[in-house]
Amino acid sequence: MPSIFSRIVAHEIPAEIVHQDELVTAFRDASPAAPSHILIVPNQEIAGLNQLGPEHRDLAGHMLLTARDLAAREGVADSGYRLVINCGPEGGQEVMHLHMHLLGGRPLGPMLARE
Ligand code: 5GP
Repeated sequence: MPSIFSRIVAHEIPAEIVHQDELVTAFRDASPAAPSHILIVPNQEIAGLNQLGPEHRDLAGHMLLTARDLAAREGVADSGYRLVINCGPEGGQEVMHLHMHLLGGRPLGPMLARE
């Protein structure tokens, strides 16, 4: 079964895609946590960060640079933004297809609530 994000990459289910190239697809989160909330995902289905290998070095760098470019396009490069990759159950990963969250457009507060 392809992941929900693979189906978005393949344009099989709707999403507001803001960027797509040979390595990655970026689209707006369906349940945004900030005025700018974009998910950057590899076109290839990789379950998560733990599944990245040395062969994915270019892809990983490209995800980061794509996020940087999209932050500029969203107008949040100077005001500031946050990149998040959740990994595994305690990391809060819900979709098992590697993705980077780009969040910005409001003060995001502390990274984590302290216990
Ligand atoms: P995670 O918790 O795995 O790091 O984040 C998954 C994110 O994917 C969540 O922020 C959730 O709102 C988003 N999401 C889940 N399903 C869909 C979908 O079908 N379309 C879009 N655009 N976002 C989704």
